[in-house]
Amino acid sequence: MYGMRIAIIGGGFTGLTAGYSLAQAGHHVTIFEKEPHLGGLAYGFKEKSWNWHLEGAYHHLFTNDTDIISLIRELGLRDKLIITRPVTSTLWEGHMHQLDSPLHLLRFPGLSLVSKFRTATLLGFLKCFPFWKLLERMTAERLVIAIGGKEAWNTIWKPLLYGKFGAHAPTIAASWFWARIAKRTPSLCYIHGGFHTVVEALSKHIIDLGGTILQGTTVSTVTREKSHGFYITHGKTRQSFDQVLLTIPTPIVFSLVPELAKSGKHKQLTAISHLHAQTLILATKKPILNRVYWLNVTDQSYPFLAAVAHTNFMNKKDYGGYHLTYFGNYLPHGHRYLSMTKQQLLKEFMPYIKRLNPSMNSQIIADSFMFVGFFAQPVHTIGYSQKIPDIATPIPGLYLANMDYIFPWDRGTNYAVSLGKNAADTMMSSISLPNR
Ligand SMILES: Cc1cc2nc3c(=O)[nH]c(=O)nc-3n(C[C@H](O)[C@H](O)[C@H](O)COP(=O)(O)OP(=O)(O)OC[C@H]3O[C@@H](n4cnc5c(N)ncnc54)[C@H](O)[C@@H]3O)c2cc1C
Repeated sequence: MYGMRIAIIGGGFTGLTAGYSLAQAGHHVTIFEKEPHLGGLAYGFKEKSWNWHLEGAYHHLFTNDTDIISLIRELGLRDKLIITRPVTSTLWEGHMHQLDSPLHLLRFPGLSLVSKFRTATLLGFLKCFPFWKLLERMTAERLVIAIGGKEAWNTIWKPLLYGKFGAHAPTIAASWFWARIAKRTPSLCYIHGGFHTVVEALSKHIIDLGGTILQGTTVSTVTREKSHGFYITHGKTRQSFDQVLLTIPTPIVFSLVPELAKSGKHKQLTAISHLHAQTLILATKKPILNRVYWLNVTDQSYPFLAAVAHTNFMNKKDYGGYHLTYFGNYLPHGHRYLSMTKQQLLKEFMPYIKRLNPSMNSQIIADSFMFVGFFAQPVHTIGYSQKIPDIATPIPGLYLANMDYIFPWDRGTNYAVSLGKNAADTMMSSISLPNR
C-alpha cells in the first residue's frame, strides 16, 4: 500500500479521528475546516481570564463512552479525565426537583405512586432490553405510554420530546429513546481544560505525522478528475487528491457533490431532517442554578429546553471565578431565534431565567456568548437505520461519514471517534483491493 493523498472535509471529531488513523497508516492527509478553529460542534473557546476552554454547546461524556476514552488514553491524556456525579433535575410546576435516581423518583411530587412504579418499570426495561432494532419499528410516544403510562408521558416525557423535536416529535423512533436511557450513566466525565484538550492533542499528532490542517478554509466543490481522483476547490485554489472523506452535514454534502443526492442508497439521506442547536451562555458573578448541573424544563411556556450550569459540574476557578450557565434549544430551519443577536435572545429569556432564580438581574451578568450549530441534530424517525448507506459512496474514492451515520445512539463525540476510525478503515481496505 502506498501513501494516498487524502482530503478530509470537516475538522470535527469525526474528521480529526479519521485523519489521525489515516496519517498513522502513512497516508498524506489534508483536513479542510471552514471555521478558524477545530472541534466542530464540540469546539471550545477561552476568555482571557479563564484557564480552561468551554464548549459552545454543553458537553460531557458518559463513563461508558469507551471509544473516546480509549482515544484520550492513546493520546497520553489519561490523567486529564475527570469523573464526577453532578445533579440532574426537572422543572415541574415552577420548582426544581432532583430526578436522577430511584429514590428521587419516589420523592417526586408530580406523579402518583402507580405512575412512579410504571416509570421505574419503563426505565428498567429500557436499561435491560438489548434488541433496539425491534424498537425502531414503533414511536417513542407509543412505547412510553404503553409501559410508563399517560400520566408520566404528559408530565415528564412529552414536554421533553416535543420541546426538543417540535413537529417531528410524534415520529421519533422508540429506538432513539431507548438509546438515550440505555446509555446514560449516573457519573459523567469531563476533560481537564475542556474537549479542546483532546482536539489540540489530535491535531498535533496529525501534524507530527506529516498531515496538513487548513482552518478557515471552506470547501466549495468536490469534483472528479478525468482519469482518477478529485479536485477540491476552496476560494480560488484547486487541489488534487486520490480520495476524499466528507464529514460535514448531509445538506452541505449535497450542495458540494450534487450527484450524490441522486445516487443509489445515498439519496435516502435526503429523507432525514435536521434541527439546529442554539445556546446562550451567561457568565455571572452569582450562580443562576444552585447545585443543579442539568435542568430539564418541562414547562413548555419557557423559551428554552434546558438550563445547564457548567460550573456546578466543573469548578468555577478555571473560568475566572464566573458561574457559567447555558440555555439551550433545538430549532427548525427559519426559527426566529436563529436570526436574533445574543442581546435579543437574552431579552427574550430573561423573564424566565428570573423565574428560575428571582435574585437574577442584569447586573450580575459579566458576559454572554451565543453559539449556533447548524444541522446539529439528525431526527431519528421510524426505520432510521434503513436510511443510512455505506460509508463508501457509489463514486469510487469518495466517502461519507457524518452524524447521520450514528444510530441507534444519539450523536456524540464518542460515536464521532468510532465513526472516524471506521471511515479510515473503510478507505484503507478499499486501497488494498486488487486492481485498484
Ligand atoms: C447542543 C449540543 C450538545 C451536545 N452535547 C454533547 C455531549 O454532552 N457529549 C458528546 O459527546 N457530544 C455532544 N454533542 C454532540 C457532538 O458535539 C457531536 O456528535 C460531534 O462533535 C460531531 O462531530 P463531527 O465531526 O461528526 O461533526 P461536526 O462537529 O459537525 O464537524 C463537521 C465540521 O465540518 C465543518 N464544515 C462544514 N462545512 C464545511 C465546508 N464546506 N468546508 C470545510 N469544513 C466544513 C464544520 O465547521 C465542522 O467543524 C452535542 C451537540 C450539540 C449540538
